[in-house]
Amino acid sequence: MIILINPNLVVQRSDPFTTGIVYMPIGLAYIAASLRAANIPVKVIDAFAEQPYQARQNGNFLLLGLNHMEIIERIPDDTRAIFVYAINLINHLSTVEIVYAIKQSHPNIPVVVVENTQTVTAYSLHLVSREFYDAGADYILTGEGEHRAVRLAKALLSSELEKIKGIDGVGSQNFYNSPCDVITNLDNLPFPAWDLFPLQNYWKLRFAHGPQSTKSYLPLLTSRGCPFSCRFCVAPYANNQKWRSRSSQNVVDEIEFFVNKYNVQEFHIEDMNPTVSDQRIRDICNEILKRNLKIIWKIVAGTKVETIKNEETIDLMAKSGCKYISISPETGSSRLLELMHKPFDLKHALSIIKRMNQAGIYSQACFVLGFPDETDNDRQLTHALVRDLTRWGVDEIALFIITPVPGAAIYENFHGFEFLSELNFSPSWRTDYHKLNNFRLHLYTYFLLWKFIYHPFKILKQPLNFLRRNFNTKMEMIPYRALVYKYLDLFSKKK
Ligand code: SF4
Repeated sequence: MIILINPNLVVQRSDPFTTGIVYMPIGLAYIAASLRAANIPVKVIDAFAEQPYQARQNGNFLLLGLNHMEIIERIPDDTRAIFVYAINLINHLSTVEIVYAIKQSHPNIPVVVVENTQTVTAYSLHLVSREFYDAGADYILTGEGEHRAVRLAKALLSSELEKIKGIDGVGSQNFYNSPCDVITNLDNLPFPAWDLFPLQNYWKLRFAHGPQSTKSYLPLLTSRGCPFSCRFCVAPYANNQKWRSRSSQNVVDEIEFFVNKYNVQEFHIEDMNPTVSDQRIRDICNEILKRNLKIIWKIVAGTKVETIKNEETIDLMAKSGCKYISISPETGSSRLLELMHKPFDLKHALSIIKRMNQAGIYSQACFVLGFPDETDNDRQLTHALVRDLTRWGVDEIALFIITPVPGAAIYENFHGFEFLSELNFSPSWRTDYHKLNNFRLHLYTYFLLWKFIYHPFKILKQPLNFLRRNFNTKMEMIPYRALVYKYLDLFSKKK
């Protein structure tokens, strides 16, 4: 039996607004499905979602979910290896703690830490592998996990440890093999094994990564990787700038499968850039319409707005059930965009946002603050761009303070943090944090003011959505989530 563990959710207690984002562990669900397809017995322990309202404090962090004893009690006697999923950077604290606790109780069971390559909140395990080995991990598994996890599990189950040295993407104290390549035919992968996860517990929370507007939802990965090379992002490192996609048929097969299996009506696309092929996204829309699937779908992790070709694509997306699209202008300063290696076509973005507004698709614009060499003038340009976007109908903004992610090009530019979990969107260890955070609060205040002036009816609807816990935007959902975390923090125990 192979055990897969999703770690606890970690919240930075000083900032329950931008930390504690609930990501369903889709990468782990894919690995579970691949192991099962290879006839390898597998069990999932979801350390967060099995007890999501149980909290304990560890310094400035709040860990939600099972405690170590409860995790260890769930490990069956016939366990031959344990894979712990490093789902994202802020949860690093929990990932390391779980590795340590398992090794204390089960020193003879091999423990593997598994990388997540399909989100901008993940990190390179190879660059920080020392922390895992010091905690007792035997191996790290880097690169896309599905095929490599099967090879590694087979070698561990047959105790052919020498074979492990030949698996690309795998490392231990004594060796490291870089991942050779990425998966090209994504249609061949089995659908995520959501039946092994406590779905009801995720749904009952009423807050997800994307805004949850119905009783149940599931994440989708319709493509992988990203062709761009933003210097603050781990995606270029983790995917060699290779973008790959599933066919429209295969994506809609998955949607239909889970509609029939769980009656799920809401799907959150978690790809880093799902619209790179405009034709493919149109094909997905047409396939949803052809099969008459009455679903809501949302692009919740962002997409490059230039790749949405024109207003016709937006209209088709809206017709097939698209209700939310997140885009990332990042900054109003063209000078900074160049330093970031991030192209952004403002004129095109404005026309797309305007059409989304008309078509009933909620929009989010994400910005990063505090990129190296950012000046007051750059911030003023961002301020002006937020005002323009608000006038054109953008429904919400998200302001992230730059943090050095292991694997991102700018990782070495920053110093001063103590723990990797501090590398989140509120890096309070930065010497300029207070200045940046004040600007962030100032900009959120102005955004609400402009929204009230330009689109008063939209803003008046938001308190109602908040009270009904029927969230159309993340800005409606996040205050609810922060209240839950504050409540849990109040009654949580110290470690
Ligand atoms: S567009 Fe840039 S920030 Fe977005 S996933 Fe690609 S590299 Fe990362």
